[in-house]
Amino acid sequence: LLQLSVPLNFIGFVYREIRQGLTDIEEMFDLLEVKPEVTDAPDAKELVIGHGAISFKDVHFAYDAARPILKGISFEVPAGKTVAVVGPSGAGKSTLSRLLYRFYDVQSGTITIDDQDLRTVTQKSLRKVIGMVPQDTVLFNDTIAYNIRYGRPGASEAEVTAAAEIAQIGNFISQLPEGFETKVGERGLKLSGGEKQRVAIARTVLKAPPVLILDEATSALDTTTEQEIQTALDVVSQNRTTLVIAHRLSTVIGADEIIVLKSGEIAERGTHAALLDQNGLYASMWNRQREATQAEEHLKQVREND
Ligand code: ATP
Repeated sequence: LLQLSVPLNFIGFVYREIRQGLTDIEEMFDLLEVKPEVTDAPDAKELVIGHGAISFKDVHFAYDAARPILKGISFEVPAGKTVAVVGPSGAGKSTLSRLLYRFYDVQSGTITIDDQDLRTVTQKSLRKVIGMVPQDTVLFNDTIAYNIRYGRPGASEAEVTAAAEIAQIGNFISQLPEGFETKVGERGLKLSGGEKQRVAIARTVLKAPPVLILDEATSALDTTTEQEIQTALDVVSQNRTTLVIAHRLSTVIGADEIIVLKSGEIAERGTHAALLDQNGLYASMWNRQREATQAEEHLKQVREND
């Protein structure tokens, strides 16, 4: 990515230039905006990845000093395990994923991967080991094959096809008149949120990173799409250290640990079953979401019968 210490009119120029070639430019701009917050330490080393254990220790963070967002967060994602973070909107869930990807540095406390403080390693080596499936995926105005291969530019055609299958988007692609050569993005075929997310998953399958961050889209998906995405995510997260920022509770049921975040603090933690037993915040979120899903399904049935 671009290092940012350039004058604003230059950014305007770059913006106009690259918006021709990129969709979701706002997302890239978001990245640009946060870029100057973090620089490599002069003596930064390459991250040496072992099994990919993640640890947050007493992490405090604020975007704006007057308003603390994370207030002493500690948890671990043991190597190969999955931890899901849930909680009300604005609790700070996505902020955790941004800190792990090091878009920002913590104010105090530490985040480590395999015992190496993120602030002591190069950003490049950090991002090489992390696969990020974001809320909104950037698609290039190019073919589907290009967009998937972006995860590992040297990948063969067979590997791209296999990744699409794993990501549960192979069937969709094969039904397109031009298949993998179909142009997507702003000037091509517009993909739905669920389809874009599966392209991102296929990319991640090719990248095969030891550490995975899944930041689920907030937007509602229909049950079939949700199940397809869930199947894809189960495959990619297998044996990978995975942090899931979850908006849909279907993703969290199988997590090794669920962290319930509320106003920047951990309110509850445990497995799905243990948290339901506690009958607290998680249990009430779960019941509410289940009722909403049932109501939605009911509405759909009524419409279909009309
Ligand atoms: P949601 O479920 O709605 O996605 P979340 O729990 O993921 O919410 P975050 O995105 O982590 O919440 O945001 C936590 C708080 O930090 C919010 O109140 C948000 O307004 C604030 N915030 C997020 N990004 C920024 C930013 N770049 N600058 C200032 N404040 C921010």
